[in-house]
Amino acid sequence: DFVANVSHELKTPVGAIRLLSDAMQDAADDPEAVRRFADRMFTESERLGKLVQQIIELSRLQADDPLDAPVAVHLDDVIATAVDTSRMDAENKNIQVMVGGTSDLQVFGNEQQVLAAVSNLVSNAVSYSEKDSTVLVTTRVDEGSVDISVVDQGIGIPAEELDRIFERFYRVDPARHRSTGGTGLGLSIVRHALLNHGGTIDVSSQEGEGSTFTVSLPLSPAQAQLSQERTHDV
Ligand code: ADP
Repeated sequence: DFVANVSHELKTPVGAIRLLSDAMQDAADDPEAVRRFADRMFTESERLGKLVQQIIELSRLQADDPLDAPVAVHLDDVIATAVDTSRMDAENKNIQVMVGGTSDLQVFGNEQQVLAAVSNLVSNAVSYSEKDSTVLVTTRVDEGSVDISVVDQGIGIPAEELDRIFERFYRVDPARHRSTGGTGLGLSIVRHALLNHGGTIDVSSQEGEGSTFTVSLPLSPAQAQLSQERTHDV
């Protein structure tokens, strides 16, 4: 199934690049047209590159068990890196990305995978928001787990689509989202990374108002113990 989906998805940009190169040959005497085709070729090859990179990331996630050799993952660092990765896109749209909540939290597992999950959520929040809005990333402890929420004031997701957005290659509006360079793999990567860590993901959304994605991950054993002791104290 995966291989069939992948071949289908790869064929689109590859076919487009091929057609564009034919068009460029035909328009060799028209510098204006050549420039336009070259621009589109660049967009399509960027898309192809992103697809290949995300396919590799997803296959790796499906093969690796982060709990084989788990390490403490510091969420402050992960969130800072995730926010930094989307900084340029956010600045281009004058979107303010704010971070808040409980600091110094740790989960147990693979930093790369937790980072992939948080980065994809922050990047989506920025991509699917209009200019001049705010994205908020917060953390809090809820019993033995950590909740990380990414809240945006963006376009939202229709209720009937909420179940499907985690499927591989699924996009709510492929025509519109072609322009955002989306691949439909981001949320599959998020879901796999979380499943690998014994975590969950939840989404609530209102069309035209915004979306909230909440990731829940087990606290690292040392912190879970601490948080339990604190509860007993009270
Ligand atoms: P993509 O690469 O298209 O962003 P994802 O798997 O990350 O793929 O997301 C799947 C679809 O879910 C997106 O195409 C988009 O329609 C919808 N989506 C994801 N995050 C958001 C968000 N924060 N706001 C609105 N729609 C979203």
